Amino acid sequence: MTDAPPLRFDTLPLAAPQLATLEQLGYTAMTPIQAASLPLALAGHDLIAQAPTGSGKTLAFALALLARVRTDTGAAQALVLCPTRELADQVAQAIRRIARSEANLKLLTLCGGVPIRGQLASLEHGAQLIVGTPGRVLDHLDRGSLKLDALQCLVLDEADRMLDMGFRDAIVAIDERCPGSQQTLLFSATFPEEVLRLAQQALREPREVLLEGGHPAEAITQHFYRVANETRLDVLVRLLRHHAPERALVFCNTRQECRDACDALQAAGFVALPLHGELDQREREQTLVQFSQKSCSVLVATDVAARGIDIAELEMVINARPSPDADTHQHRVGRTGRSGRSGLAFSLVAPNEERRVENLATLQGFVPQWEDASAIPATDAPAPQPPMATLLILAGRRDKLRAGDVLGALTQAAGLTREEVGQISITDSSTYVAVTRARAEAALRSLNRGGIKGRSMRVHRL
Ligand code: ADP
Ligand code: MG
Repeated sequence: MTDAPPLRFDTLPLAAPQLATLEQLGYTAMTPIQAASLPLALAGHDLIAQAPTGSGKTLAFALALLARVRTDTGAAQALVLCPTRELADQVAQAIRRIARSEANLKLLTLCGGVPIRGQLASLEHGAQLIVGTPGRVLDHLDRGSLKLDALQCLVLDEADRMLDMGFRDAIVAIDERCPGSQQTLLFSATFPEEVLRLAQQALREPREVLLEGGHPAEAITQHFYRVANETRLDVLVRLLRHHAPERALVFCNTRQECRDACDALQAAGFVALPLHGELDQREREQTLVQFSQKSCSVLVATDVAARGIDIAELEMVINARPSPDADTHQHRVGRTGRSGRSGLAFSLVAPNEERRVENLATLQGFVPQWEDASAIPATDAPAPQPPMATLLILAGRRDKLRAGDVLGALTQAAGLTREEVGQISITDSSTYVAVTRARAEAALRSLNRGGIKGRSMRVHRL
């Protein structure tokens, strides 16, 4: 993205095992927000940081808080507040990934929509790191099940979004229960007045790190197609068949549009799933996991449902309809071409929507490249299928199931090779494992018959 030399993590005051983990995970250079914020955060300053979605904010605060946490006590030392359960889960996963050199580190997620009993039990065992949503965290503070006396670091992630969701009072109440000596880091994609006010209230002499989110990364190429309303979904199908991306995110403005687009794609043979506000928590979780595990190739989402979701290496974003709002368009397009990878962004625009694109182009100072939808070749080839399938095991962390157990059962009893097993994602009560499509049925039968670690388990294919 830039010509400047890469900013290496080993220029930071990080412990050797932490640097080794970063290297193992393939994080070779800091992203701009990491390079700008980490030296300040590691020096102990409070921080206001603004950077667009996908710029690597999670790793920025994760490294800062891990540097402060001691594992010789079980007291809560870092608290990350996130707007939704999905985001909290993602942040928790990201922290676990880079904290693997810390054997005694416990991380607990405390989110609403999950029974409180299990959380109470886990809290009794202690956890140095807490990631949660403001409502539930406050609930635990009120019950006395969570104490923040030893807190070293408070992170407000996606502060703008948390305020949009009405969490202002809860955040202020949580802040008041913190010792006051802790470091506070506030991250936000946008800085409306309300966020600034919260920052004034909760932060002490904060340093500011502001990265322009104005223009899409240069790596993203935007294409605009003029379509008729009647042919929009045909063009969508044709575009996806022609480019055959491993994964694409399609944006719609309403739930109904989401359902229609998804129906059209499924009818054309795609493994496509909708993501909108009418799904319950479990459906959302399953949809996101399938997309992330590459067992669903097209996710058709509304903006609200998709916001903040971190899916790396997204090749393609399609606006089935352009958003009337320029910022929203920007957020959508920013989902592809992350971390310097190249991405494609398409917008299907009916005559009555052309004005939106003109406004957007004026605001952001570019000249839209209009292309002719009839030039997209039609193909008879079957719709590209995702490489993986997701198996759902009805047991999780609470049942002491670990990724190694699942991998062991698949590679030994079921006879899959290590390469035929993909991502394994474990939640409190369920486990999702990706296996290659060709081996999915065999793996399913073997797990249902032989169980895992000698225990029988119920397994479904999603
Ligand atoms: P944000 O919170 O700013 O929207 P995330 O923290 O979710 O963005 O990061 C977006 C993606 O970038 C993630 O997939 C993450 O793994 C990846 N990423 C973060 N830091 C780096 C890095 N230094 N090098 C390469 N990829 C990175
Ligand atoms: Mg984030």
